Amino acid sequence: MFENLSERLSGVFDRLTKQGALSEDDVRTAMREVRVALLEADVSLPVAREFIKAVEKKATGAAVTKSVTPGQQVVKIVHDELIGTLRGEGDPGALKIDNPPAPILMVGLQGSGKTTTTAKLAKRLKDREGKRVLMASLDTNRPAAMEQLAILGAQIGVDTLPIVKGEDPVAIAKRAKTQASLGGYDVYMLDTAGRLHIDAELIAQAAAVRDVAKPRETLLVVDGLTGQDAVNVAQEFDDKIGVTGVVLTRMDGDGRGGAALSMRAITGKPIRFVGLGEKMDAIETFEPERIAGRILG
Ligand code: GDP
Repeated sequence: MFENLSERLSGVFDRLTKQGALSEDDVRTAMREVRVALLEADVSLPVAREFIKAVEKKATGAAVTKSVTPGQQVVKIVHDELIGTLRGEGDPGALKIDNPPAPILMVGLQGSGKTTTTAKLAKRLKDREGKRVLMASLDTNRPAAMEQLAILGAQIGVDTLPIVKGEDPVAIAKRAKTQASLGGYDVYMLDTAGRLHIDAELIAQAAAVRDVAKPRETLLVVDGLTGQDAVNVAQEFDDKIGVTGVVLTRMDGDGRGGAALSMRAITGKPIRFVGLGEKMDAIETFEPERIAGRILG
């Protein structure tokens, strides 16, 4: 197991200041430990560097009272800075779904958990907000993916748009909109095709669907265990398609959560939800405190 940051810093400060204010030297030494902790949590190097700069500024000269040790004081400063960086504006779980039927576009690479997340969010909207949701799969390359969504829909009691063979994604998106309007649905979710890597066709297809559907939310689903790759994927999707938020899946795994910090720092996009397992209820609103705790160990 990793030694956590508090333990590391206690060791450092035992050798340094005992009280008063944190000196520049104390802080510099402590920052080496903070940097190791961040890198072990899979925070990318440039993000770790920037983050440390910000913390260094705040920590130098910070008062250390009798009630806390210098190590605890630095951990608190790091913790607060983490929360500040991770927190987006407003409630991450509040999806913009006024003016029914509200389109939600789901994008991401194949295997990221996009279809599972689409169903999880649909169930959440139904159960928690009493919304009528229609889901449609646009993955015309993979009939199995379309069927998977229909199976999940039946399992959670959410309607899916009937599959029509030979239809292209834009036509399916239009049909979903019509069906959602006529059927009195509050929300319709478009589960776009994923691929193993981002390519021009994938982006062109998602952009065409976006232009037709004019989604209220475009949620990018990324595998939280893929670290820096997840951040690169997010950056590219946001540049080309424009996303309103990120869902990090597989956060039930043993990753230390650093991808969340890199994601937020580099893309500037809010993390809205985290996936915590394969079951349909295994999704939660993103909580910065939880990730900060994981990163600090
Ligand atoms: P898609 O290709 O992006 O649509 O991916 P799927 O939704 O089919 O998911 C791929 C696999 O990942 C499935 O076996 C899911 O059950 C699993 N999965 C999705 N989200 C999570 C998650 O948050 N945690 C875990 N452990 N597994 C997940």
